[in-house]
Amino acid sequence: MQLTHTTDSSPRSRVDLHMHSTFSDGSLPVDELVARVAAAGVEVMALTDHDNTAGVALAAKEAQRHGLRLIPGVEISSVWEEQGIHIVGLAMDIEHPALQRGLERIVQLRDQRALEIAERLQQQGIAGAWDGARAIAGSPLVGRAHFAQWLVQAGHCKDSQDAFQRYLGRGKPAYVPSDWIPMAEAVGWIRAAGGEAVLAHPGRYKLSGARLKRLLEDFRAVGGAGLEVCSGSQAAADREHLGRLAIRLGMAGSVGSDFHGPKLGHAEIGQLLPLPDGVETIWDRLGVPVAVPFPTH
Ligand code: AMP
Ligand code: MN
Ligand code: MN
Ligand code: MN
Repeated sequence: MQLTHTTDSSPRSRVDLHMHSTFSDGSLPVDELVARVAAAGVEVMALTDHDNTAGVALAAKEAQRHGLRLIPGVEISSVWEEQGIHIVGLAMDIEHPALQRGLERIVQLRDQRALEIAERLQQQGIAGAWDGARAIAGSPLVGRAHFAQWLVQAGHCKDSQDAFQRYLGRGKPAYVPSDWIPMAEAVGWIRAAGGEAVLAHPGRYKLSGARLKRLLEDFRAVGGAGLEVCSGSQAAADREHLGRLAIRLGMAGSVGSDFHGPKLGHAEIGQLLPLPDGVETIWDRLGVPVAVPFPTH
């Protein structure tokens, strides 16, 4: 498979613990995603679809075929002090009832939200969004990214960015919050299922230094193990201070591209800078050996 986004000079990681498939808002089916992970030279991956683990069993099978290690994952939509946050769960028993009951609740809430988003678009003179977004999603999980893709396809917006800026982003006419599950509950499901919780892309929340530190302290207090120090969906410049925070708070660092698909403007699989020196790795905490996580060339 041709990889158009990675070049020999771009940073490569052999660990990538955050990515999406068609089981949420990624554009690649699980088998193609795992093939791409293998082609990118990644050896340890986690599939972290939004609010469901339906793709994990197939991903494990495909990973085995390619000689990769698959860590079961999920990215849970959550909230802390009215701030929407995402929590990555890693290495859970995905059949655990507390986890599955919780995720089912979120998928139901997402369904209701999708209807509300469609109604709001209708009020903006845009008809057919519900059927359109559901057809694009092709699975029970309908998210804003699917609405964005439909808005582009139907000629209402020029690209997904434009759709978020004009309709779907926070404070825009079709915005309906998706942050229904308190942080402590989401972390609780992950821990009950034997996994570890990682705060996803902390740099994306645009919090002040003091508030970010408080979020991390609260996250740790409810059982959170670590944070994404290196993420394809936050600025590379965030890595240094997030690394320092991880060390100071005794939290582990994770790395994840947040890959959604080849054409969706996100980072490529494995395209990640190394964790700063001194940061404990989440894979050590999980007891997963990685000989050379960040090869130099
Ligand atoms: P949801 O979980 O349904 O609220 O949708 C959030 C998802 O929408 C994120 O995981 C991204 O995949 C996508 N997204 C969020 N903001 C943007 C944006 N500004 N441009 C494109 N995609 C975005
Ligand atoms: Mn997404
Ligand atoms: Mn996210
Ligand atoms: Mn994500």
